[in-house]
Amino acid sequence: MPLLGPDEPAPFETVREHGRSPWVLLCDHASRRIPRSLSDLGLSEEARSSHIAWDIGARGVSLRLSEALDAPLVACGYSRLVIDANRPLGVASSIPAVSCEIPVPGNVGLTAEDEAERARAIFMPYHAEVERLLAMRTARKQPSVLLSMHSFTPELYGKQRPWHVGVLSGKDRRLAEVLLAELAKENDWTVGDNEPYRVSDVSDYAVPVHGEQAGRLAVLIELRQDLVATPVMEQAMADRWLPILERALPSLL
Ligand SMILES: [Zn+2]
Repeated sequence: MPLLGPDEPAPFETVREHGRSPWVLLCDHASRRIPRSLSDLGLSEEARSSHIAWDIGARGVSLRLSEALDAPLVACGYSRLVIDANRPLGVASSIPAVSCEIPVPGNVGLTAEDEAERARAIFMPYHAEVERLLAMRTARKQPSVLLSMHSFTPELYGKQRPWHVGVLSGKDRRLAEVLLAELAKENDWTVGDNEPYRVSDVSDYAVPVHGEQAGRLAVLIELRQDLVATPVMEQAMADRWLPILERALPSLL
């Protein structure tokens, strides 16, 4: 049975695909939507609204940055609990049976076909869209500098996280170093350098695959969720990043 009904939203959302900015925004965890065929994955409304299902505020900030920068944005249309767009296929956290100690009943006992259908319906078309957009820009000789936009919960396993924002990088530190130097001027922010997470080939997809392996500059940006909890806060966060990104750009091109 197909995962998505004919009346359900597409697996990705592309905004300003012809945007002129060198920045390209990706939002892997933009949505908490679960396909109807999965019966809410057996989760409570509380769990489905929480940070385990999506990156609260990340899509809102990304849309506002896309508009302010005239930058394209590709956002995934379904929850990371259905299939995580920022994990390689086949790793345990790709279709998590447990997320932050909360069991996900609808992800237990899946057949190989079930897993393949999640990839076919959501993961593959989302990343194919990112590839299409980036290839189109390359053909037009437009540079692409990737920002993979995420958000993190202010408290995890009873521990408060001090960072306001984080810049996560893998093997290629070039873009991270430039952004961190600009972020150091924001005196009221505690900035994480590879905090609260770091990028790796097993725990990430967009930065290693669309960035490093393709020779493109890329980082993953983490925003603390209590700072982007309302539309007004999303706008304020985008307004803070705009000059930072504009100052960083000349040394990147
Ligand atoms: Zn995320």
